[in-house]
Amino acid sequence: MNIPVYLDYSATTPCDPRVVERMLPYFTDTFGNAASRSHAFGWTAEAAVERAREQVAELIGAHPKEVLWTSGSTEANNLAIKGTAEMYREKGNHLITAITEHKAVLDPMKRLESQGFEITWLPVDSEGRVDLAQLAAAITEKTLLVSLMAANNEIGTLHPLKEIGALCKQKGVLFHTDATQAVGRIPLDVEAQHIDLMSLSAHKFYGPKGVGALYVRRRSPRVRLSAQMDGGGHERGMRSGTLNVPGVVGMGAAAELARVEMPVETERLRQLRDRLEARLLRDNPDAAVNGDRERRLPNLTNVSFPYVEGESLIMGIKEVAVSSGSACTSASLEPSYVLKGLGLGDERAHSSIRFSVGRFTTEAEVDFAAERVTAEVKRLREMSPLWEMVQEGIDLSQVKWTTH
Ligand SMILES: *Cc1c(COP(=O)(O)O)cnc(C)c1O
Repeated sequence: MNIPVYLDYSATTPCDPRVVERMLPYFTDTFGNAASRSHAFGWTAEAAVERAREQVAELIGAHPKEVLWTSGSTEANNLAIKGTAEMYREKGNHLITAITEHKAVLDPMKRLESQGFEITWLPVDSEGRVDLAQLAAAITEKTLLVSLMAANNEIGTLHPLKEIGALCKQKGVLFHTDATQAVGRIPLDVEAQHIDLMSLSAHKFYGPKGVGALYVRRRSPRVRLSAQMDGGGHERGMRSGTLNVPGVVGMGAAAELARVEMPVETERLRQLRDRLEARLLRDNPDAAVNGDRERRLPNLTNVSFPYVEGESLIMGIKEVAVSSGSACTSASLEPSYVLKGLGLGDERAHSSIRFSVGRFTTEAEVDFAAERVTAEVKRLREMSPLWEMVQEGIDLSQVKWTTH
């Protein structure tokens, strides 16, 4: 067992060694620029890039021409959101999203809001899902785009993409989904789910960091985007810049592995996650799972340990690498906006930890993690006056705290 045990696969995954193997020649021997049309170096690189496009397309039920390479999901989200807003400005000025989206969706939306666009920020229920009737009611003649994530990165809750997609199609608005957490973990199909734009990132499914893709629908409707990166006119003019050929090849290889191995892998991950979750709930009184326990990612659980401060717990279990949710906000001590969006109080949000297992996780690692967490929760609780009061039978919600 490698210590620290890595249980933060939702933040990033290691490259699969089989992926690295396929990338290696593209750093040295076949190093050509995929846009060089005048010699074999370029043609070889281009062929590799087009093969990778097919591999990614196949994973999501798309046509290869509908896959644009980006530097990751942050860029793909920015391009999808700002690119459609700018392109269709004549048609309207309204976009819809939800309060529990990743910052890479929320912040482009905020930018548009500051430029005069109108944004509807849908609330979510206690499990993290938007209400479809509320979504339908929010769509107006001026609505250009609905952006709702496939799976939430902190709690794993899945959105009903097919229903959302059908609704958007019926209303004639574009549907973008940030599928970064879902790719390779659950089946996705841009046709069956009526998706017009989809963001993917290689490093979340055992590919390299710094490469991703945006799926852009070509037919019924043909989606057009205003480029956010101008230059040589690469990627059908929508995203200029010399392609990261080794990265692209790696993303293609990772997509193919994900497609082939998903059915078996998903089941294995679910069992590991369920085992970890069951132990945490069994051994830690009052521990509770956040989000939806049915319709969620197979590899993730977000658990609250009341009367324990999440950051202290994370610091106390150095042999286990977990996070309080988002890698992007864990530097701040703010409670997670996603957990607050579910209606959890600051207390409970502060006591929550995200555990995410992956391809290289073993049963022994999961058991070790559960033991370490349980021991640390116990230690921290023994130092907690709140926990002492609870043990004495005091109902904390009835306590009148005096402030000075
Ligand atoms: C990781 C993540 C991103 C950011 O992806 P990068 O490729 O690292 O830019 C965006 N959205 C979600 C849901 C994520 O989990």
